[in-house]
Amino acid sequence: MGKYGIVVFCVFFMGMQGLVGQYLLAGSDFIDQGQPSYFPLAKKDFKRLSSSYGNRIHPLHHIPKKHHGIDLVANSGSSVYAAAKGLVIKASYEKGYGNHIVIQHINGTKTLYGHLELMLIDEGAITERGQTIGTVGETGQVTGPHLHFEIWRLNTKVNPLLFWEQLIQQRKSVITHNSVLSR
Ligand SMILES: [Zn+2]
Repeated sequence: MGKYGIVVFCVFFMGMQGLVGQYLLAGSDFIDQGQPSYFPLAKKDFKRLSSSYGNRIHPLHHIPKKHHGIDLVANSGSSVYAAAKGLVIKASYEKGYGNHIVIQHINGTKTLYGHLELMLIDEGAITERGQTIGTVGETGQVTGPHLHFEIWRLNTKVNPLLFWEQLIQQRKSVITHNSVLSR
């Protein structure tokens, strides 16, 4: 059984090839728990998409480099939510990603949350969809506080925005407050 979402959630983003797109979607609030479909920041905290998936000039190294995720700007300390239920297979520090968490979901997908200030869940733990797993920070190689978010499908890093768009099309579902939702 689903609940009905009441908050309309907008995701503005820059397309991969410089196209500018916009989602303005609303609908019912029922979801497949296994799909990474929960927007990892609260609407009130999410400011903008600062970098989309694909090739770009690296902001620190100033050389062309593929960006394997999306950068979601929010203040340090903002809650970061698990995009789906899953097993935390990594919660550790790394030079590039800083404090980062990787969650294995039940349908062969994984999600990664980078540059966290705090990691609030341990490796080996099970997280529910929408559970707070950490806070936005600027650990690792960053120019300011944001969440670097990746979706992996069978170990291939895919564009989260296209992934969500496919979910929406396949399931005739929509993004409301925090969720890609199916009717
Ligand atoms: Zn990034």
